Amino acid sequence: MTEHVDVLVVGAGISGIGAAYHLQDQRPGTSFLVLDALPSYGGTWWTHRYPGVRSDSDLFTLGYRFHPWSGDPIATGRQILQYLGAVIAEHDLERHIRYRHRIESAEWSSEASCWTITATNLGTDETVKLTAGFVWMCQGYYRHGEGYKPQWDGLEDFEGEVLHPQEWPDEAELAGKRVVVIGSGATAATLIPAIADDAAHVTMLQRSPTYFMARPNVNELANTLRALDIPPEWTHEIVRRQIFKTTAEMRAAASSDPEKVKKVVVDSMRSQLPEGFDVDRHFTPSYRVWQQRLAILPDGDLFRAIREGKVSVVTDTIERFTKDGITVGSGEHLEADVVITATGFDLAVMGDIDLVVDGKDIDPADLVTYRGIMFTELPNLAYVFGYFRASWTLRADIISDFVCRLLAELDLRGAKKVVPVLRPHDADMSLISWVDPANFNPGYMMRTMHRMPKQGDRDPWTWGLEYAEEKNVLAGVDLDDGTLAFS
Ligand SMILES: Cc1cc2nc3c(=O)[nH]c(=O)nc-3n(C[C@H](O)[C@H](O)[C@H](O)COP(=O)(O)OP(=O)(O)OC[C@H]3O[C@@H](n4cnc5c(N)ncnc54)[C@H](O)[C@@H]3O)c2cc1C
Repeated sequence: MTEHVDVLVVGAGISGIGAAYHLQDQRPGTSFLVLDALPSYGGTWWTHRYPGVRSDSDLFTLGYRFHPWSGDPIATGRQILQYLGAVIAEHDLERHIRYRHRIESAEWSSEASCWTITATNLGTDETVKLTAGFVWMCQGYYRHGEGYKPQWDGLEDFEGEVLHPQEWPDEAELAGKRVVVIGSGATAATLIPAIADDAAHVTMLQRSPTYFMARPNVNELANTLRALDIPPEWTHEIVRRQIFKTTAEMRAAASSDPEKVKKVVVDSMRSQLPEGFDVDRHFTPSYRVWQQRLAILPDGDLFRAIREGKVSVVTDTIERFTKDGITVGSGEHLEADVVITATGFDLAVMGDIDLVVDGKDIDPADLVTYRGIMFTELPNLAYVFGYFRASWTLRADIISDFVCRLLAELDLRGAKKVVPVLRPHDADMSLISWVDPANFNPGYMMRTMHRMPKQGDRDPWTWGLEYAEEKNVLAGVDLDDGTLAFS
């Protein structure tokens, strides 16, 4: 007989483990299973093993609201995996998770009121089928198998090694080598200081600059509370509130006086860089400060490596690869034994799962989102996409509350199906992309946004980018406003 669960959770990363915890906590009696293609938990934090891999936001908020963080604000990939392992162990979630199962398709039948899930057991190559009343997509936003690799002229001529941070080989050896890291984002900024001591020299080759904030990796308030033996749950909550407050202040300042905030951030970077360093060219982005998450550099490690002469920065376009390096737009040739392509991700829409509803193939780009959590045409399905400017998990936690409430509502009504439906006056509203490019525009989103579902121009067909607002909005959602059809 085909195995059946009430809820099938896709993915055992931060979002999927959180979903499992909340289901167990808020929905005792609901059966659920978590499937993940990887051999272990952690998602992003299992996949990324490059030197120096760490969070760029603090773990009081990248951690769950229900499980206190007891370390320094910025954590290494290994510490994050340990934290997630502790959550799984403490709440006995392991028995609900099956690894090495890649979900290929999900087919909804209105007649049977359930999803049929087809997965491949990557250990045995067998096809596995099961049914689920509800699908909770916690698949993250990018393809874990391989990173994004732009095609550059002459790449095939390069005689050195090319590495991608997402596919970091255990045996990578950089000692004494000339390394060029292509990229300017958080990955490049964490990797570079970690390899700078070993390598002969590292060049950060970026097309455009990014904002960074150098900060000591301590939270004074957390340390004070810990020294006073305050219970860890209290410390966690108090520090989270402190972070929400400072984030709100920062956000307000960035929107009311963007130029001033930009100057403050750029000046603080300037103070960390050597005399005469071309800050305008290399560390003065054209976008507004709050448009992407502000990456924190613990103890300013990237700037220190630049000060020590171990790292140089080139802001230019790539003309072509040569046999021993890269020629950039200005004509300069950067010699390299190793090139690291910190060029980002390939976005995976809906975990690359084929979705079928009552025999009809669904193209995610045709869907309209309900609050960035559900979609028109997709019954009994919720989707987690976290914040980019604040920690991802803040949104995962509040989506979990919403999904558990929705499942309770289905029970209360004795309904088997819930699907968002456009009201007659929503039918011709204008549709915009999943995220507004004026608001948030990293390369991997821009490259693939056309494949993502759309937002409408009004509530509830939009979703919020700010936790402070969305947490209240979601908690107060009227499930009876005519935009969710229960049957
Ligand atoms: C290097 C790096 C650093 C980051 N730092 C931060 C940070 O400091 N703060 C922050 O807020 N965010 C950060 N992020 C974003 C980060 O991805 C999220 O914070 C968070 O880890 C996402 O968790 P997730 O569970 O939603 O997705 P993921 O971590 O991507 O996990 C999704 C899981 O779903 C599984 N899956 C997907 N599709 C399928 C399928 N079809 N079948 C079976 N399994 C499937 C995958 O195998 C994976 O294990 C960072 C990302 C990267 C890459």
